[in-house]
Amino acid sequence: SYVGIHATGFRDFLLKPELLRAITDCGFEHPSEVQQNCIPQAMVGTDILCQAKSGLGKTAVFVLTTLQQIEPVPGETSVLVMCHTRELAYQIKNEYNRFSKYMPEVKTQVFYGGTPIQKDAEILKNKETHPHIVVATPGRLNALIRDKYLRLGSCRIFVLDECDKLLEQIDMRRDVQEIFRATPKQKQVMMFSATLSQEVIPICKKFMQNPAEVLVDEGSKLTLHGLAQYFIKLDEKEKNRKLNELLDELQFNQVIIFVKSTLRATELDKLLRECNFPSIAVHSGVSQEERIKRYKEFKEFNKRICVATDVFGRGIDIERINLAINYDLPTDADSYLHRVGRAGRFGTKGVSISFMSSEADQEVLKEIEKRFEAPISEYPEGGIDPSTY
Ligand code: ADP
Ligand code: MG
Repeated sequence: SYVGIHATGFRDFLLKPELLRAITDCGFEHPSEVQQNCIPQAMVGTDILCQAKSGLGKTAVFVLTTLQQIEPVPGETSVLVMCHTRELAYQIKNEYNRFSKYMPEVKTQVFYGGTPIQKDAEILKNKETHPHIVVATPGRLNALIRDKYLRLGSCRIFVLDECDKLLEQIDMRRDVQEIFRATPKQKQVMMFSATLSQEVIPICKKFMQNPAEVLVDEGSKLTLHGLAQYFIKLDEKEKNRKLNELLDELQFNQVIIFVKSTLRATELDKLLRECNFPSIAVHSGVSQEERIKRYKEFKEFNKRICVATDVFGRGIDIERINLAINYDLPTDADSYLHRVGRAGRFGTKGVSISFMSSEADQEVLKEIEKRFEAPISEYPEGGIDPSTY
């Protein structure tokens, strides 16, 4: 099946009883293929470089294995998790909360830019609130280290989620490197992504010692099982009408609509709300506090439609999304994969529909089909059968 379920159970990993209880509470019954492959090695401190398609449960790999290994000391941070967007950092922090439910002595905090740094500093100054696990974006984390609010002399585990994003962009990579240098040499390093290019793999390995390489599927053959993919050829000016039609006819639980700019996100969201669609917009043009608020509203199912830019395209996990629409097609195949991967998480079914309005779009779509060996068919006249998504 899609999730690659084996006969193994979480019990077979010999995790702490506190963790097993939390896993049961979360409704996880069987470890996914990536969890089977990574957890046994990760929990004994092996460095891990893991590439596995989106929705397979990479988060639980590092959340569980860091919680398994942690020996909390007041005032010391021993686990560091970095990712490239604030919403993702926030989401990972929530996963720590879920899985450390029965480990009340373990404290986790999330730090990211766009909020007053003084607040973070207060948390770090106080031994009572000082976290054992820090989840953060690189810019803010580096600032906290530079200003000596956070010391990493006790850091034992260093995790990069969506590692290619963190290491491809020069400014982020510089922050990650500086943070890495502030940690002790002897530590465990784990990195995760759905996409690891041949170019980025050696860069990742520079941070590691004999990593276990868990490549659940080869990058070139990445497919999105369970996700039916369609395109619609139209003129730019027909997009709104078509979108309106689709939202009326498709039976989605939650939909995410991707656009190419902040401005377009604001405008489309406004238009949808004027047409009485329960829409919300998440992009970098709104304040951090507001962004997280909106993310929560959507995640908690108070809104069914989210208009987003690529800030939302990666790693975000909202289980009710079964439809992803590329109102604007991205400019490369990787972004496409991360975007449409928001629908059809963990073995559930989903649909993606991409608007194609230019020659350039056509080229991108061709590249995507080639790269993932996945057919993207023309959206049929009479719509699609709801039982397929
Ligand atoms: P990835 O990072 O690989 O894209 P996530 O870690 O975001 O995937 O997980 C996708 C979804 O699958 C999440 O909602 C998560 O709670 C769920 N999930 C992960 N592992 C399991 C499991 N073993 N059983 C059931 N659900 C799982
Ligand atoms: Mg992820």
